Amino acid sequence: MKIVMLGAPGAGKGTQAEKIAEQYKLPHISTGDIFRKNIKEGTELGREAKSYMDAGRLVPDELTVRMLLDRVGNEDCREGYILDGFPRTIPQAEALDAELTKRGEGIDYAIDVEVPDDNIVNRMSGRRACPNCGATYHLEFIPTRKEGICDECGTELVIRDDDKPETVKKRLAVYHEQTQPLIDYYKNKKVLYTVDGTADVDDVFDAVKNILK
Ligand code: ADP
Ligand code: AMP
Repeated sequence: MKIVMLGAPGAGKGTQAEKIAEQYKLPHISTGDIFRKNIKEGTELGREAKSYMDAGRLVPDELTVRMLLDRVGNEDCREGYILDGFPRTIPQAEALDAELTKRGEGIDYAIDVEVPDDNIVNRMSGRRACPNCGATYHLEFIPTRKEGICDECGTELVIRDDDKPETVKKRLAVYHEQTQPLIDYYKNKKVLYTVDGTADVDDVFDAVKNILK
């Protein structure tokens, strides 16, 4: 089962992808997480990606596609995977499809998590992330048991560099311009499903499970 999560930055793609991964035993692949890991480790890829990410822009397709195709070629992806944050442009989606078509495969579900822009700014300002295990919380909506500490691994949480309000506005504009067209792209392929992302996390997940069953 190959799933693509669509939606604006902060819509809750990562939160749902994590739950799907656990329930269906599939790897959760977040291109944003892979870039952040590379930045933390000081790799060449991380250095190249950082300037784009800090500016709220997309990392160039060539770099992103190469990294993603490499990742989904891993053994753990044989039964499928959940893509979170990829594709973000039509050329990325086409590159992925071209690779899958070669093997007689394709994306089974593209799930669009719908949240209006007004809610997004709120979501992002309260987002807290674990720099160690990648878990995501929200100050108000998804609080940790102990303030500022990851429930999963005990690491101190951070505010992502690109969650500053100015950068969030830029990322939303980039989303509308470059990523939203993917909704029609997957609609044309007859694999598009939509969930209301403004509901509680568990209610959104119930809707997702209904789609996947
Ligand atoms: P994305 O992966 O789409 O960028 P995240 O999954 O990181 O988004 O969610 C963005 C923020 O909103 C996080 O702080 C997360 O904890 C919170 N969040 C996610 N889903 C919901 C929801 N259904 N209701 C309220 N807050 C949510
Ligand atoms: P995310 O964690 O998905 O919100 O991604 C954080 C940032 O990483 C984005 O704002 C982009 O700068 C970069 N990024 C993540 N995925 C992609 C992608 N598929 N294409 C281009 N840039 C990406």
